[in-house]
Amino acid sequence: MKLDMHCHTKEGSLDGKIPIFEYIEILKSKGFHGMLVTDHDSYNGFRNYRDNLKNKINDFVVLKGIEYDTIDAGHILVILPENVKLLLMECRGLQIGRASCTASSRCGAQKWGNSWSCSSLWRTPS
Ligand SMILES: [Zn+2]
Repeated sequence: MKLDMHCHTKEGSLDGKIPIFEYIEILKSKGFHGMLVTDHDSYNGFRNYRDNLKNKINDFVVLKGIEYDTIDAGHILVILPENVKLLLMECRGLQIGRASCTASSRCGAQKWGNSWSCSSLWRTPS
């Protein structure tokens, strides 16, 4: 099975140029059997697949992933289970309104596409 394990989509990454549906079609045409969606601090590409394409595409595997920006360790690619909710992962790149994300006013959280990047979540808020 041939998978592309590092895919940025237009829906989820500023540097993603191709919508996920088109991305899937391109990968299929090149003989891939699946992809890992690793948008920057965002699940928007995977969510678009899950909400709009999953039931229409049955011969191609789409895995949920993310590319996290870290403070001092560069970018980390993560493969995620599809139906597990972890507060840390939501706060790191997605739902800034949650209580543990209030540290953002101290760390200078930045908007990245349609999501937020808050590096303070790697520290214990005081
Ligand atoms: Zn990347």
